[in-house]
Amino acid sequence: MVEHIKLNSGHSMPQIGFGCWKLDESSASEQIYNAIKEGYRLFDGAEDYGNEKQVGQGIKKAIDEGLVKREELFIVSKLWNSYHDPKNVEIALDKTLSDLGLDYLDLFLIHFPISFKFVPIEEKYPPGFYCGDGDNFHYENVPILNTWNALEKLVKAGKIKSIGISNFNGSLIYDLLRGIRSQGGIEPSVLQIEHHPYLQQPRLIEYVQGQGIAVTAYSSFGPQSFIELESKKAKDTPTLFEHDTIKSIADKHGKSPAQVLLRWATQHGIAVIPKSNNPKRLGQNLNVNDFKLSDEDIKEIAKLDIGLRFNDPWDWDKIPIFV
Ligand code: NAD
Repeated sequence: MVEHIKLNSGHSMPQIGFGCWKLDESSASEQIYNAIKEGYRLFDGAEDYGNEKQVGQGIKKAIDEGLVKREELFIVSKLWNSYHDPKNVEIALDKTLSDLGLDYLDLFLIHFPISFKFVPIEEKYPPGFYCGDGDNFHYENVPILNTWNALEKLVKAGKIKSIGISNFNGSLIYDLLRGIRSQGGIEPSVLQIEHHPYLQQPRLIEYVQGQGIAVTAYSSFGPQSFIELESKKAKDTPTLFEHDTIKSIADKHGKSPAQVLLRWATQHGIAVIPKSNNPKRLGQNLNVNDFKLSDEDIKEIAKLDIGLRFNDPWDWDKIPIFV
């Protein structure tokens, strides 16, 4: 049984979910269906992943077969950078809802605090880094509070249950909260960030959790996910699965290194969204809360923090969100 985190919106979010990034189109629907069968209830998707139609088909199959009801699922998507202008936020959400075949999302996050120039859906979807002009980046002057206000309206319209942010740093969250509170608006329910032993960010997590915002960790296995993308930084970094500290803690508890990495986050009240298409690992990743890391284990893992970030928009176009 997966534990739940109570969100400041009043809704509850499963603490362990399934990440949908890089699920390829041909197998995504089956993988979602299998994950629901295995017991996953939270699915972390995004417009940018380009697979929301297939994710929706997997969800539909499971619902049609009576494996699960819509209200038992927690479906997450993320607003892509091309749709930050308030007039485009609903257009993007409607596309996501129609691709998923759903009439509401449980959680919609601003994927990055970066506003690209709008690209019409008919021109290219998802647009990725395309800003209407080959490989050139173009930006729009949209302050984040304006995008946030558009999301608040969609909560009130019943299309989204909870709203949140991803890849935001401390100073931007600090300012966003000032803006929202000055308007008496809806506060973010969730912050989703890259988080693993090489990038621990304890102050950010302490601040955000202290404000009543839940934290979701992505890329919990550190370099693993970025090796597939041919990232040199990831290839040059020792894998966490083979790291002596992680391996010895895993052996001591009779668990796999992956389970230790996930438990390390969940024990700090953080949600995790690992992705796997291997049936054994699917089950393994879902069952991580039946053991407890000791204070000593946590102290040892704390020593691995080197502030190493794999998902950094500085590498796209020198975009300074984390400098
Ligand atoms: P991840 O850390 O979940 O790692 C995935 C890799 O680990 C895959 O290669 C998989 O085969 C392997 N793996 C999974 N379980 C394993 C196990 N038990 N033992 C050994 N290997 C195992 O990587 P991720 O995909 O980067 O992150 C998870 C999810 O987070 C994504 O699918 C996506 O939903 C989300 N995410 C969000 C953002 C964002 O900007 N908000 C960025 C990256 C990822």
